[in-house]
Amino acid sequence: MIFKTFLFTTLLVGAFANYIDDLYPDYSEEVLTGNGCDPSHCLAPNCSCFGVVPLKGDTKNLPQFVVLTFDDAVTTLNINTYRQLLKAKNNSNGCPVSATFFVSHEYNDYEFVNELYKQGHDIAVHSITHESSTEMWKTASLSRWKEEMTGMRQILSKFGLIPSSEIQGHRAPFLQSSGDSTFEMLKENQFVYDSSMPSRAFMDPPAWPYTLDHGFLQDCQIPPCPKSTYPGLWLFPMVQWKRTSVIRNEVIDFHCSMLDACTPYPTTAKETYAYMMDNFERHYTGNKAPFPVFLHEAWLRDKNRLEGFASFLDAMRQKEDVFIVSMREVLEYMKHPVKLEEYKSQKCFASTRPQAGECKPVTCNFRKRNVFMKSCVPCPKRYPWLGNPEGQIQQ
Ligand SMILES: [Zn+2]
Repeated sequence: MIFKTFLFTTLLVGAFANYIDDLYPDYSEEVLTGNGCDPSHCLAPNCSCFGVVPLKGDTKNLPQFVVLTFDDAVTTLNINTYRQLLKAKNNSNGCPVSATFFVSHEYNDYEFVNELYKQGHDIAVHSITHESSTEMWKTASLSRWKEEMTGMRQILSKFGLIPSSEIQGHRAPFLQSSGDSTFEMLKENQFVYDSSMPSRAFMDPPAWPYTLDHGFLQDCQIPPCPKSTYPGLWLFPMVQWKRTSVIRNEVIDFHCSMLDACTPYPTTAKETYAYMMDNFERHYTGNKAPFPVFLHEAWLRDKNRLEGFASFLDAMRQKEDVFIVSMREVLEYMKHPVKLEEYKSQKCFASTRPQAGECKPVTCNFRKRNVFMKSCVPCPKRYPWLGNPEGQIQQ
């Protein structure tokens, strides 16, 4: 009897292990213990289990996405870098290269944001105030998050003429969320995805985006992390990068969630290119999870780094199975995954979106606050801010 039970259990566990292997070709059963997500029920377009790879992990038929994001205000200081790197550049399928911009309000130029959207880029929110205290963000209430993020969406739509329905993404300032209040706010206010949560445990193989139907399932690098479930809300994990250096004869690995945070910085174009390519290979030769190229433009103000960065993007554009696209587009793909060949023949994503309004730029001068704002529509009476995103006169 004991033997029979043992045999039965072994067979059962064996069958379960095979079942798990088929569905999660990349992760061990151990990693997924307690996951609770059943991929035969959690299905595209609105649900995706953590650890699941589209097309059941048929990697040779998957497109490799390179996902470029830039954070903070778009200004006269950085717009030329964006134009130089992205404008009039196409992927091998003839569709424009596109990136995601997580925009914060202060110093932001809404004429530039309008221009970026028209070029096919994804415009997402990164708060109104970008307040410098991480403690504030860590403990912020749901209503504060709401004012910051829905307020920012309203400002982008009002003064940059970006269709509000197209502003779907969110990144917390300093990647500091307050766990559940942040995610509750996103879910309640129809945001589609968050990309604030770094992952080091799922770098190799790297994690694909997933929905929070069964909660937050990756490693928690910047607590607090959400504990509740948020059906249909996508999480685009910030899969980390690695930079290996030899310091005093010792090999040291630095990890970073944004490539401009790994030290020491590369100093030549060649070194920059090699740093990017090394990290890219882990995705490209692995499960083809979207390769995150997340940074701040300031890192590219060094001429050598800019040159190395640009050659990396050029190399990517020449590959027939690699596409530089926004987070919006990756998620669209995950909702309707198709084989590489079919993907290449699809209409360009940017052309399927509603258009931005025609920008008639004006410079608004708010003397009391000593601040300028470039707007696509006539100036508001007050400087748009927390609690008054449209800048109307208030009592
Ligand atoms: Zn920021």
